[in-house]
Amino acid sequence: TREVHLTARPQGWPTADDFALVEVDRPAPDEGEVLVRNLFMSVDPYMRGRMNDVKSYVPPFRLGEAMTGGAVGEVVESRSPDLAEGDVVLHDYGWREHAWGPAKRFRRLTPIEGVPLSAYLGALGMPALTAYVGLLDIAGMKEGDTVFVSGAAGAVGSMAGQIAQIKGARRVIGSAGSDEKVAYLTGRLGFDAAFNYKTGPVHRLLADSAPDGIDVYFDNVGGDHLEAAIGAFNRGGRAALCGAISVYNAAEPPPGPRNLALLVGKRCTLRGFIVTDHNDRYGDFVRDVGGWIRDGKITFEETFFDGVDHAVDAFLAMLRGENIGKMIVRL
Ligand code: NDP
Repeated sequence: TREVHLTARPQGWPTADDFALVEVDRPAPDEGEVLVRNLFMSVDPYMRGRMNDVKSYVPPFRLGEAMTGGAVGEVVESRSPDLAEGDVVLHDYGWREHAWGPAKRFRRLTPIEGVPLSAYLGALGMPALTAYVGLLDIAGMKEGDTVFVSGAAGAVGSMAGQIAQIKGARRVIGSAGSDEKVAYLTGRLGFDAAFNYKTGPVHRLLADSAPDGIDVYFDNVGGDHLEAAIGAFNRGGRAALCGAISVYNAAEPPPGPRNLALLVGKRCTLRGFIVTDHNDRYGDFVRDVGGWIRDGKITFEETFFDGVDHAVDAFLAMLRGENIGKMIVRL
């Protein structure tokens, strides 16, 4: 069976040379263990941070070992009473064709009719929980707020924008990196306005889309997007700082927003968060977001690459913005 190892720590943008596809033996499970054939694995922006040897909220990947990450698989051998052959499980041993280990590391999923299993990595999984918690708990979005979401056509952003609409936002504005994505946002996803941030200065594009300012900013991007949002904030504006993908591949620390002093007079709050601190909201999330998907109030896209030998390509393509919705590797 094959797995993807990190072989060098990328400086700036990662390249294929920083990774290796390695053939390893597939062990027979010990007592209490299972062997799982992976069906889907996730590539996520946070993995870029784990490729650096720095202290962070998750430890760095180790060189010469398989990387980890969210995956959905099917149990093919079980020596545990808790899981049976054929069970579909969610776990953290992605970046490989097979996963094995103690049964307690694998969570059985109950497939929902009409919802693909890959959705447990996106619209029903970690990215969507991030959107739910970030928008409702961290930014405290309320009915009547004007909400701006950056990275809006991606896994987290597309959910944040739709949840904002369901929760009665006055206006939802999104930014993304192509005209096709902008059309997706204002078309299928029902955003009130959207812009392609590559077509001009973000502060001007945002001002055009939000002439009355914004109350909530869901930040996936950082950098000039955050500066533009601070400029557009109404009094009492709140930002959920979810990610800063515009700087993940920067070799030098980027300059901060130059207009932070505005936060004082506008009485604004910027608040960072990490989704794994909010697992207590998982039940509410499944009830709400699962229900909205079932009722057709939330829709989602997935972009697929096929094969573990294309997992690195999928990761790099995601960083470049080649995904609409969640980027997933189908194994
Ligand atoms: P996405 O599905 O949004 O994929 C990443 C997207 O980032 C790309 O499609 C690309 O879209 C965009 N992008 C890349 N470079 C830039 C740039 N320089 N400026 C603006 N946009 C860029 O990923 P996710 O939805 O999984 O993650 C979105 C954000 O949420 C990330 O910052 C991630 O780190 C963060 N996150 C945070 C969590 C937390 O617990 N705080 C948990 C999960 C995710 P485009 O074409 O629009 O440029």
